[in-house]
Amino acid sequence: GELSAMPDIDPASLFVTRTAKPKVPPPAKALVFGHTFTDHMLAIPWSQSTGWQAPQIRPYGPLHLEPSSTVLHYAQTLFEGMKAYRDKTGKVTLFRPDMNMKRMNKSAARIALPTFDGDALLDCIKTLIRLDAHWIPQEVGHSLYIRPTLIGTQKAIGVNPPNEALLFVICSPVGPYYPTGFKPVSLMATTEYVRAAPGGTGGYKLGANYAPGVVPQKEAAKLGYSQNLWLQGPEHYLTEVGTMNLFVVLRKNDGGVELVTPPLDDVILPGVTRDSVLALARDHASGKQPIAGMTGKLEVSERPITMKEVKEKAEAGNLLEVFGTGTAAIICPVNRIGYMGKDINVPAGQSGIGDLAKAFLQEIQGRQMGTIPSEWSVIV
Ligand code: PMP
Repeated sequence: GELSAMPDIDPASLFVTRTAKPKVPPPAKALVFGHTFTDHMLAIPWSQSTGWQAPQIRPYGPLHLEPSSTVLHYAQTLFEGMKAYRDKTGKVTLFRPDMNMKRMNKSAARIALPTFDGDALLDCIKTLIRLDAHWIPQEVGHSLYIRPTLIGTQKAIGVNPPNEALLFVICSPVGPYYPTGFKPVSLMATTEYVRAAPGGTGGYKLGANYAPGVVPQKEAAKLGYSQNLWLQGPEHYLTEVGTMNLFVVLRKNDGGVELVTPPLDDVILPGVTRDSVLALARDHASGKQPIAGMTGKLEVSERPITMKEVKEKAEAGNLLEVFGTGTAAIICPVNRIGYMGKDINVPAGQSGIGDLAKAFLQEIQGRQMGTIPSEWSVIV
């Protein structure tokens, strides 16, 4: 069609304007998640008449947007979250970045923003990371959080596919999620609000999905819970926790263990960490690649699970672990769930982290930091 004939992102035409005022990265200990940004950013403008224009790396700084820009009115914005890691030898890697590029394109297509060649964007992102690699703290567990973003910038109010857009990427050095050992979180099973509805956009990483979660999060915090457990439908199906995917570990009647996560549908974001946990669990369960220290029979289920089942399993002593998965924490253990005025205690969370959660954390962290060789780790 007309659009496919337009220029795609072209890493060969990337031009770099280095900052005249390089900053000194703050000490790793002083880092607050998402507050510090590196010296440079990547920007790639797009317009309907020119397609993707030459990518630019330039000093990190404000965008110039007209107040009429459609992103400011109709939430024409989507983003990704991924991390660059630095191993002991100084080598910098990304973890399954192809999945982020695919998800970003799906998000773009869902809200009529332009799609692009994911490999080409990744090439440009790698150049940006190499330029600012000294911002990745050397300390164990630290990384560079990378935030690709795509916004509609048509200079006209009116709900339409924008005729202009801007893709940009910023980078933020981050410390370890658990600086002082595991901190399990408590969840408020939220019955008053939904994060995502069937037929809606919860399966895409759109800015519009996040602002409405802030008030429910504040209400959960007021009741003493750290995050929302998002439910769906009158059956109270479990979907996600805060901004993470959800896993539940159950003991089965035959003594085996079932790892359950809700199936991907339009209310579940297809998390990279979720996919990684499932792949590791399935390779373990099939005997293809057993996970060290994980013994006993494991069944892996992508299936719906309701609060009724969780409650009954807990009462029977068969609820073993609950944890969230996401790029920020990798694995986040849960110690209790508030539901309809009562708390359900999750045994593994009481002592910090459960056996399965810990095994997955070590397997994934090992692949990120290069101590376990893996195709998932991509050199920058
Ligand atoms: N669900 C939501 C709503 C999220 O925002 C995220 C973070 N991207 C996740 C799940 C986890 O996804 P990932 O493992 O790719 O970070």
